Amino acid sequence: MNIQALRGMQDLLPEQKEIFRFIEAKARQVFECYGYQEMGMPVLEATHLFKRAVGDGTDLIEKEMYTFDDRNGDSITLRPEGTAGCIRVAEQHGLLFNQIQRLWYHGPMFRYERPQKGRYRQFEQIGVECFGMPGADIDAEILLLCARLWRELGIDKDITLELNSLGSAEARVKYRTVLVEYLTSVKDQLDEDSQRRITSNPLRVFDSKVPQTQQLLRHAPLLKDYLDDESKQHFQQLCEQLDKCDIAYQLNPYIVRGLDYYNRTVFEWVTSSLGAQGTVCAGGRYDGLVAQIGGKGTPGVGFALGLDRIALMLQAKFEHANAADIYVVSNGEGARQQALWVAENVRNALPQRKIVVHCGAGKFKAQLKRADASEAKLALILGETEVTNGTIGVKFLRDDREQISVNVADLNDILNRFFS
Ligand code: ATP
Ligand code: MG
Repeated sequence: MNIQALRGMQDLLPEQKEIFRFIEAKARQVFECYGYQEMGMPVLEATHLFKRAVGDGTDLIEKEMYTFDDRNGDSITLRPEGTAGCIRVAEQHGLLFNQIQRLWYHGPMFRYERPQKGRYRQFEQIGVECFGMPGADIDAEILLLCARLWRELGIDKDITLELNSLGSAEARVKYRTVLVEYLTSVKDQLDEDSQRRITSNPLRVFDSKVPQTQQLLRHAPLLKDYLDDESKQHFQQLCEQLDKCDIAYQLNPYIVRGLDYYNRTVFEWVTSSLGAQGTVCAGGRYDGLVAQIGGKGTPGVGFALGLDRIALMLQAKFEHANAADIYVVSNGEGARQQALWVAENVRNALPQRKIVVHCGAGKFKAQLKRADASEAKLALILGETEVTNGTIGVKFLRDDREQISVNVADLNDILNRFFS
């Protein structure tokens, strides 16, 4: 039987995983230097958490969730995004009451989407969520943090920031009326989903990926012309702060985001290097969400970045660093045992070095070939003679130097000197 991965599920081979790890390490380093704390939450949550948070009439709820009944008959869902779960955790453990939080997490998300390059059914996100801060300063801070991460990853030249404001809930209600009027007047030309959304969730139409619908939206009335004064001021403060810190951005009045919980600031970091899946990071403010999930009203702002897409951006120029430092070869049964023991001692003394032991017998010459392929700088060589004499051969694989024989007792000192 030939068992294959499920459609849309990605297998991560070691070289890809190395890139993911690199991105995570850089993110951790940047987040820590802004005082953000890592947290974790379950992959499974009660289905109604997401329904309540994300909103009916979004693609995410209508068609993308992996939802099923558990053995007890309860409806549970593989998380399609992190914000709802993060708020659930923060509420449940009392992290929000009168407090300020700057949190981040990473892990897999699940969405039943049509798989293509940069779009998978299981994908990795790094998410940041900040609570208890209503001002534009924290919106600016998370954007500065993103910009720093792109610089650290060496992709800042390939990513641009697009910004919009969705205003207050009241402003959106006012705007909704004129938008519905416009959408109704062009209803026949809209795609089927968008037609349905005119009544269920008209702002969502902006999220449509159907080109003809997008074309029609170019003539739609814009939310930015209906913003309330406070939201306008908030947005202006954000833009001024970004200007002061030299963060370039483009105003994009068409960004509404695919989830219903946003208000005021929304943003996307986009690249042209990934074709249609050009958004690598997206987020915004969600001041009503904590209350919507059942907590006390607490302002929030955050974003999620798609690791898979950033990994695709890095892939071409990524320098893999899988080379061994030392490769240990042996000849004969006694020497094989000695080899594992010697390697352990070397690891104790040089914990930063990568030491690979040739396991499984094999011709000596073949073992040395492996040593060469491992890119190690040194091979340690053990034969019956060495075991009897308590010595070990040190072969310099990359230098033009004679092999030497050293006492096992002196080995660590010699290696330390070689690698310092
Ligand atoms: P898109 O418009 O591409 O569907 P989205 O608006 O659904 O994205 P968000 O929910 O804001 O995306 O998620 C944040 C980020 O997570 C996206 O910008 C993207 O980088 C990544 N992402 C979202 N869905 C997928 C997916 N199916 N596969 C890979 N990455 C994804
Ligand atoms: Mg989507």
